[in-house]
Amino acid sequence: MDDKTTRIGVMGGTFDPVHNGHLVLAETVREQFSLDEVLFVPAADPPHKLHREITPAAHRLAMVRLAVDTNPHFRVSTVEIDRGGISYTIDTIRELRRRSAEPVQFYFITGADAIMEILSWKEVETLCSQCFFVAATRPGTDGDKLTAFLESLPASVRECIHLTRMPALEISSTDIRRKVSDGRSIRYLLPETVRLYIGNEGLYV
Ligand code: ATP
Ligand code: MG
Repeated sequence: MDDKTTRIGVMGGTFDPVHNGHLVLAETVREQFSLDEVLFVPAADPPHKLHREITPAAHRLAMVRLAVDTNPHFRVSTVEIDRGGISYTIDTIRELRRRSAEPVQFYFITGADAIMEILSWKEVETLCSQCFFVAATRPGTDGDKLTAFLESLPASVRECIHLTRMPALEISSTDIRRKVSDGRSIRYLLPETVRLYIGNEGLYV
């Protein structure tokens, strides 16, 4: 990779809602891999989450916009929401590459839990030729299971996966939604602007 290649992190997620775990993950990877920027890409209709009602994309997008606002290296991309329907990572990376005039190396950022679903993704080998993956271990990650999983992958796939450690933040969107519906505090788990948005819009009650 030459010096002119732009390094862009791609942080996909449902972001229902976005929280400090996502933000710390993105910032940790940005710093570690010297990324020029991180794009947050809220999913329109993610293939692995069809089992529950997802908050309308307009709300999830608005919350991500509020969350990234204070970091000059963070941006939001509506590529998946614009496309609508089920979005595969390969299609998203292809579309982002099409939109970029310069040579780009993409780093798709995920939690270690999400990387373990990689083999169920569409065109995984092609995907690995299109971007690197950065998988972060988070609370609850089974290290032995992850190692065994990585060893089971074909070399061409394994080689595009980088592991990273990040400070453990035991925060999940599921837990935040549950807390709101139970009337409990979600302060300090996510940006204050997002917390206020949730309250004003009456989300998750
Ligand atoms: P849900 O509880 O609804 O599954 P989530 O908190 O896992 O939500 P997602 O939008 O599913 O959030 O996650 C987007 C990405 O962020 C995934 O790759 C996930 O592994 C990662 N992630 C989420 N929370 C954390 C955290 N606390 N630490 C590190 N990575 C995280
Ligand atoms: Mg999740």
